[in-house]
Amino acid sequence: MNQPTALPVPSPARSIHLPSVDRMLACSSCAALIATYGRAQTVDAARALLADKRACLLAGADAAVDADADAAVEDIPALNAQVGARLALANRAQLKPVYNLTGTVLHTNLGRALLPDAAVQAVVEALQWPMNLEFDLDTGKRGDRDDLVEDLLRELTGAEAATVVNNNAAAVLLMLNTLAMGREVVISRGELVEIGGAFRIPDVMQRAGATLREIGATNRTHRADYANALGPQTALLMKVHASNYSITGFTKSVAVAELAPLAREHHVPLVVDLGSGTLVDLERYGLPHETTVRETIAAGADLVTFSGDKLLGGPQCGIIAGRADLIAQIKKNPLKRALRVGKLTLAALAPVLALYRAPDLLAERLTTLRLLTRRADAMQRQAVELQPLLQHALGPSYGVTAQAMLSQIGSGALPVDQLPSYGLAVRASPGCAVGNALGRLEQRLRGLPVPVIGRIGQDTLWLDLRCLEESQQPAFAAQLERLPP
Ligand SMILES: *Cc1c(COP(=O)(O)O)cnc(C)c1O
Repeated sequence: MNQPTALPVPSPARSIHLPSVDRMLACSSCAALIATYGRAQTVDAARALLADKRACLLAGADAAVDADADAAVEDIPALNAQVGARLALANRAQLKPVYNLTGTVLHTNLGRALLPDAAVQAVVEALQWPMNLEFDLDTGKRGDRDDLVEDLLRELTGAEAATVVNNNAAAVLLMLNTLAMGREVVISRGELVEIGGAFRIPDVMQRAGATLREIGATNRTHRADYANALGPQTALLMKVHASNYSITGFTKSVAVAELAPLAREHHVPLVVDLGSGTLVDLERYGLPHETTVRETIAAGADLVTFSGDKLLGGPQCGIIAGRADLIAQIKKNPLKRALRVGKLTLAALAPVLALYRAPDLLAERLTTLRLLTRRADAMQRQAVELQPLLQHALGPSYGVTAQAMLSQIGSGALPVDQLPSYGLAVRASPGCAVGNALGRLEQRLRGLPVPVIGRIGQDTLWLDLRCLEESQQPAFAAQLERLPP
């Protein structure tokens, strides 16, 4: 295979001793590889290895690589071990666990909420069993997948009805497309949010076929601005939670409770994109207040949309809750079929929602809330224990200190509020002026079996321990010895 047309002349002092692929496969050292990876893949990997060796030998380059090359090429078990290493590399998972030491608990790039055990068990079952996803076990007739969680959502939000789609972006798109296609949606200029680049209210509005009717100024919007914009062309009044920014200073916005009577008077639904959408009052757990879905609906919102994997602490999904007639219209939109969630999402969502029925136990059971409410002294104890281990692993080129720091909730929840935390701060030692020493260290930490992700700022690599639970600490510490050079 792949015979070069003009073979380079091998150096006369060396002869090429490579076994055939057949001999490599026949060797007992290959049996485990074939059993793991299958014959075809193993044959290809063995061929590729031999081709590389041959090219190396012909080029004479191996002499520089290692003096034992001639001996090694005869050693079939050693060659098969190299085949095994190549197969393992090619078959390693692309999606894998990491340690999130960024200090951002709900980190969109790291997959947001971690799910509690109850949800994990339910997903495992749903993966392996046929489920009554759209099958009513009472009547034996076809059911609706939303029914699996709708009662819980009604109970927890006070809404008449609810439906679940792929994410909150889908919820907003579906809501606007159903209720405002070809008509106007009135929204304050201070609420034209962009979430992480790809989701911008004006763009989603356009794709939904609705016309944006901007009102007010960036910092101030009044009730009269909404009133003046209302007309026969108005489909919706909309409010959007300023998830990742805050407007301060000389500001005015109109609360849902103030807007609701106006909307009702004009028979125009008032819809609210809450973004994170909490189901409990976080103040109860010592966290900053975030308007709940229930409060928003009680204040008069006709529909509320929110994410499943932000503060709610569940799987990726988007929830629309509110008036039954509007939800019924939304469910009839053909886009709903394209945006619906699968059984894994519903399997995970139901037990997470059920945890909210016991708010007194929530901070212990709901992983997201447990992480957000961890006490700084618990993290401080961990930092003090881990400091000498990391210092030892890094050597004198870096200085490691246990230090107080600030975490964020993340994913657009409570953007300006930070939580007191504790962790490790790593700085390059003065004597060791390796260019970009911290960037290099960040890369080495990413090279660990379970990559460690921190955050660089102020000439320091910050490793916030809020998301390293005590049970994970021994494994975390043990792998520090395997830090790549
Ligand atoms: C996060 C967010 C979205 C997007 O939600 P996804 O679940 O990420 O699709 C939309 N609107 C607001 C206000 C948000 O905070």
